[in-house]
This record gives sequence, C-alpha cells and structure tokens, in this order.
Amino acid sequence: MQAELSCFEPSCRARFPITDILYTCPQCGGLLEVAFTGPSPDPAALKKLWRERRLSNAPLDSSGVWRYREMLPFDGQTHHAVTLREGNTALLDAPHAAAYAGLDALRFKHQGFNPTGSFKDNGMTCGATQARRLGLRRVACVSTGNTSASMAAYAAAAGLEAIIFLPHGNISFGKLAQALEYGARTLQVEANFDQILSLVRTLADRLGIYLLNSINPFRIEGQKTIVVEMLDQLDWQVPDWIVLPGGNLGNVSAFGKALRELHAFGLIPRLPRLGVVQAEGASPFYEFVQQGGEFRPQTHPDTLATAIKIGDPVSWPKAALEIRSSRGAVERVTEQEIADAKAIVGQCGIGCEPASAASLAGIKKLRHAGIIQRGEFVVGVLTGNVLKDPDYIYRYHMGQLRTSSGAAIQPTFGNPPEVVPNAPDTIAKRLNAV
Ligand SMILES: *Cc1c(COP(=O)(O)O)cnc(C)c1O
Ligand SMILES: [Zn+2]
Repeated sequence: MQAELSCFEPSCRARFPITDILYTCPQCGGLLEVAFTGPSPDPAALKKLWRERRLSNAPLDSSGVWRYREMLPFDGQTHHAVTLREGNTALLDAPHAAAYAGLDALRFKHQGFNPTGSFKDNGMTCGATQARRLGLRRVACVSTGNTSASMAAYAAAAGLEAIIFLPHGNISFGKLAQALEYGARTLQVEANFDQILSLVRTLADRLGIYLLNSINPFRIEGQKTIVVEMLDQLDWQVPDWIVLPGGNLGNVSAFGKALRELHAFGLIPRLPRLGVVQAEGASPFYEFVQQGGEFRPQTHPDTLATAIKIGDPVSWPKAALEIRSSRGAVERVTEQEIADAKAIVGQCGIGCEPASAASLAGIKKLRHAGIIQRGEFVVGVLTGNVLKDPDYIYRYHMGQLRTSSGAAIQPTFGNPPEVVPNAPDTIAKRLNAV
C-alpha cells in the first residue's frame, strides 16, 4: 500500500515521505512508524490472494513475509526485495507444554525456523530492501546477537556491505559466528552499548550507512507478517492470547500494529490479547506497566536469556500502546522458570533459545495468576532456534548452569549423558532398568 513515515508521538504526528532517511522524528525526536495512506483493501480478496500465493514458486510468493506484501510499505518497489524465503514458520501443537502451563491446548509459532534462526529475519528482509530502495550500499547495527546474524545474512544476499558494531569484550560466540560466516565487517569498540549507538548515529550520515537497529520502522513492518502468517495458518480464527518475550519491545509493537491493521481492514473481527514476558533481571517494561508513572530504564540488565537482556528498550512507547489497546498483560519470570520452561519445550521435540522459553514460563505464570484461563486459545511465540545457545543447554542438563551472580539453576528436567563401560551386559541391564 501507499505509505508515509509518521511520528508516533500523539502531540506531534509529523509526516514524512517514505523514502526520507530517518530513524526518529526530526521535529520532536519521537519514534517513527509507517502509516498507510491508500484505500483499504478488500479483506476476502486478500485472504484468497494470500492463500493462492502458497501454490506459487515465485520468490516473493514463497517468502512468508513478501507473500503478505499488501501489508508492507513497498508498493511498486518489490523489485528491490531481498529474500531468503524467510517466514513460513511452523505453528505447532504442544500438548506436553500445554499440560505444563495448565492449559487444555497450546500452540507455538516457531520463528526459530527462519533462515538465520530467529524472527529478526522477518524484519531484516524489509530493512535490507529499504536500504536498496534508498540506494545506500552500507548497512550497520549495534548488536552482539540475533540482529547481527540476520543483518549479515541479508546484506550478503543483497550485495550490501554489512558493518556490525560490538561493545568490546561482550561477545556471544554462538551468534557472532554467523555474522563472521556471512562476511560482515565486525568492529569492536571500547565503549558500552549506548555510547556505541550514538557513535554510529554520528557516523551514519558521513559514511552513507543505513542503520538497521531495532528502532528502524521497516524492520517492524516485516515483523508484522509473523502474526499475519499465524492467522492465515489458523484459517483466520483469532486466538484469545498471543504471548511473546520482550526485550527492546519491537516485536510486540509489530504484532500489535499488525493486529490493529488487520482489524481495521476487516480481516479479523476482534483483537487477541497480547502477553509480553520479561526476565526478572531485565524487566523495566514490567515495572512500568505495574507501577505506572515515568518509564525508568534499568542500568544493569541481567539475564542468561541474552536476547532479552535489555535495560532501555527503545520501543517501549509503542509497546505500551499495544498492551493497552489489546487489553494485554506483562509478566516477568525468573532464570529458573526460563530454564525449566526451555527444557519442557525441548521435551516436546521442538526446542528454542532461552529468551523464547520466557513465553512458556510467562504463559504458565499468567495461567496460575488467573489472567489466562485453562480453556483459552493461546499461541506462544518461540523467537529463536535451539542451536543458538548450545552452551546454556549443556550446562543446564549437567547441573552446571549459574546466573551471572553465581546462583545455581536446578536441572529440574535435566537429562545428562551417562558414562557406561564397553560391556554389552552392563549396557543392556542399564537400558532395561526402569
Ligand atoms: C530480539 C529477540 C527477542 C526480543 O525481541 P524484541 O523485539 O527486542 O522485544 C526475543 N527473542 C529472541 C530470540 C530475539 O532474537
Ligand atoms: Zn515528532
């Protein structure tokens, strides 16, 4: 559809052309979002078109993001699209996890099945496409995690130069490995995350860099398709709840915006409630929603779920709107709850990275608080692939997992390897023992 950039601040709402290179509002400094200006599409025709595209082998139709391009701000510009056939992620029944959470049924939408193993791909395909549309040859982000893995892959696929800025000595190897493999230039800077962010903002204009940090409104647009695809897979039956982990809060902002747009276009009759789950050691949004008043960032966020280890989430104003308008809820969970929920997801044969398991841990907690009811229709979003953090898994099952302060995490569902002698009788006896 035809679209503009719009300031998210209610008191400003300034509008800018979709091809302006902006990350925040030049008039008030507020967040930007994409606003659609064209006529509203025909909902029945859209559902039919999207379903038909599933039979097509054309690159854009076989992407789980670009299949829904009527929801994206790239009208007449899809020749710039760079796709790795992202999206197309499974919606899985998980009866074992449902029982664990105290629900009759539970489904997981597994974004870890994406090309680089996280939902960042749903957004990055659009971010990289916008870079090409703007004619910029370089993209950059500040991240040690899934964002850098995803940006590196899409930049490589698009023929763009990728530059990743890292806080020195603060590297998570599992994810950084992907960025190196995809050929990104990786710069380690002697500064903390926030200092690097402002450094990169200064350099962006001078070096013709397009910034693909979580504030980028085009990434949010791509991430909207996660719920569009989910609803398409559900034949447009609306869940009671969609629950996801919250770090920078870009994903919940994307989900809320998508749902409001689908509702406005007449594709769904009502809005599901959104549940956001934070780790106890990095829960500024939880505090804000519980206590009201000013938003207070956390200076030393702390959790082993590194993808949600965020103290100053940039998208909190958008997330606050989405929680309000969906009558949603925000929960927080302990490191032990995350670790155990993650093992349960594993026992389903599904598996996920630690941050993703906050979804299940949060669903269980909201269920026990009586906020989610036993018979309600709940979809949990698993945001990242099980192989992103094998070190965490090994330590959990070995009973060696510790929080950064040294507190032991109990291997409640531990499944350590057993050492056996090279003796058939002993092994047979061991395997037959109950
Ligand atoms: C980025 C990420 C999150 C957090 O999403 P936000 O949009 O920052 O709230 C959660 N899980 C995984 C696996 C991620 O990569
Ligand atoms: Zn503004």
